[in-house]
Amino acid sequence: MTYPRILVAGLLVAMVAIAAALGYQLLASSSSTAASPLDVLRGEHRGLLGHAESAVPDGATVFDDEFPGVANLDPDLLDALRQAATDAGDDGVEFLVDSGWRSAEYQNQLFREAVSEYGSEEEAARWVATAETSAHVSGDAVDIGPFAATAWLSEHGARYGLCRIYGNEPWHYELRPDAIEQGCPPMYADPTHDPRMQR
Ligand SMILES: [Zn+2]
Repeated sequence: MTYPRILVAGLLVAMVAIAAALGYQLLASSSSTAASPLDVLRGEHRGLLGHAESAVPDGATVFDDEFPGVANLDPDLLDALRQAATDAGDDGVEFLVDSGWRSAEYQNQLFREAVSEYGSEEEAARWVATAETSAHVSGDAVDIGPFAATAWLSEHGARYGLCRIYGNEPWHYELRPDAIEQGCPPMYADPTHDPRMQR
């Protein structure tokens, strides 16, 4: 009877498929660890290992929701970004996501690295939030690049409710729906002036 032989063949096919999928995942995770620059410390933190699920690969746009860093953004923020990016595209400007949603583990890793970089938690807090306070962890903040995109947003973003929040972070945008009618609220000089960052 050939029945068992068909079963064995089917099992082999399944095992090959699983092995291929695992191999693909390994490739995908190893290639994405080079992304997700830290606010301000961009460049220096390329090659950061671990927490690859939060890292957005170089060149990812606001439309690339196969990446959790993009897909896990607040839906209203993502809608506003996509509308703005579509209109900016008519001006020849492309929006790239340098960093979007971050897992709590990843945010804490960034904060620990900033502490060792700046020498104290107080100084690090000017640049990097903790997982408890970061708007990136809740999916309510996005770091946009390159310069042409942030320049476009600083001029037109309020029309979409997209506002720059911090004077020292021209790439960091959050949704402020009231801005569509009232304009964006005044910026904080840096995150230490943001009441949400008080721990
Ligand atoms: Zn940010």
